[in-house]
Amino acid sequence: MSDCLFCKIASHEIDATIVYEDDYVMAFEDINPQLPVHTLIIPKQHYAHVGDDVPEEILGKVFAAVAKVAKIKGVEESGYRIVANTGEDGRQTVHHLHVHVLGGARMPIRMGPAD
Ligand code: AMP
Ligand code: ZN
Repeated sequence: MSDCLFCKIASHEIDATIVYEDDYVMAFEDINPQLPVHTLIIPKQHYAHVGDDVPEEILGKVFAAVAKVAKIKGVEESGYRIVANTGEDGRQTVHHLHVHVLGGARMPIRMGPAD
């Protein structure tokens, strides 16, 4: 998708701090980190979100990359949270499937109420 920010990162048209990359996925640092570790993982191909007929093989590649990124970022032992904001109510702002890997500090016990 020519006007998609994360497609442009995937194709190296826009710079990002790349943490991990293979033929299928790319992981890069979130530009506005919410925790000491905040890395995003995307499939290189464009899918809007997890419900956008994503082949299971690609979903598997994205989740396999989670474990790799956790190891690279040093949170494999301490733990982390993975989040995929999806659609309007999920407050997804970039409409290219991505998983947030958040860690390096203890999470809030649970999410707050909806507003
Ligand atoms: P979401 O709200 O789940 O759609 O998350 C989008 C994420 O992309 C946010 O956490 C942003 O900080 C992050 N983001 C936006 N632009 C960039 C960029 N150019 N490089 C890295 N991360 C970005
Ligand atoms: Zn895209």
